[in-house]
Amino acid sequence: MRIDSERKLDFDDVLIRPKRSRLKTRAGVDLVRTFKLPHGKGPLVGVPVIAANMDSVGTFNMARALSEHQMFTAVHKYYTIEQWQEAKLPEHAFVTFGMESVDKITDTLKKLGRTRLCLDIANGYTEMFVDLIRDIRAANPDIVLMAGNVATPDMTEALILAGADIVKVGIGPGSVCTTRMMTGVGYPQLSAVIECADAAHGLGGLICADGGCKTPGDVAKAFAAGADFVMLGGMLAGHTEALSDDQLAKIKDGDNTLEYYGMSSATAMNRYSGGVAKHRAAEGRVQQIQYKGDVAQAV
Ligand code: 5GP
Repeated sequence: MRIDSERKLDFDDVLIRPKRSRLKTRAGVDLVRTFKLPHGKGPLVGVPVIAANMDSVGTFNMARALSEHQMFTAVHKYYTIEQWQEAKLPEHAFVTFGMESVDKITDTLKKLGRTRLCLDIANGYTEMFVDLIRDIRAANPDIVLMAGNVATPDMTEALILAGADIVKVGIGPGSVCTTRMMTGVGYPQLSAVIECADAAHGLGGLICADGGCKTPGDVAKAFAAGADFVMLGGMLAGHTEALSDDQLAKIKDGDNTLEYYGMSSATAMNRYSGGVAKHRAAEGRVQQIQYKGDVAQAV
């Protein structure tokens, strides 16, 4: 084993030192950015915040609400093609897939007429994943391809060289993630962002800092560290746009608590994968959210 003794940092370890500026007011800051892509047909234009592809965050309603502010949503992968076709979402929405066949992914994108893909697997460190990115890029030369997750420069480079435009960075920092506890694997998120952004930018690629932002200040720190995009789960969970019809009805009936859960939690696996597979443990947890008036709070 090699111990990396250089200090690695999380968002809470740093603050942004104030600096002189010519701005007269914060209202004068233009948040819209135009990104040139290394592979896909760009430019990609918008406010670089992305709702996470979790079933209690990346909903159709979230995509509609955020796109009004030119922000993006990685729509979760549990909607059917028919639901997508009915939803007629704005262009800021990404279609999400996990480890699926190139044909299935390519056919779905074509059927839906969509060109933005989020390829999301818990551990982006496999040859199989790199091969999948390469094959998807070959079959879809023009799409915007965001892929992850990884947390180190070597793998960031590998994914960009294989065909990713945006690499999703973050192993273990998520608010409902238990990967670090269950597997011992992870990397302090601010350092991951700094190191992966540097690697990506050297190749003309982009990164999305995914996980661990608890406050708007954390989002600012991620951008300061070099993130091109920031993905948010917990900060958007519990908002009306993230809730299912059943949840909205419960709240209307006076129930003021809800559950927000990780996509690798037992709750999610019971819902979508017929339970937790025998060869693994859940790597996500359930977070209770309590409503006080209009305010949703994690408890
Ligand atoms: P947050 O903004 O809530 O801190 O982090 C959101 C990110 O956490 C997601 O985009 C995803 O990468 C990650 N995540 C979501 N659910 C799980 C889970 O069950 N396990 C793990 N390890 N990560 C998760």
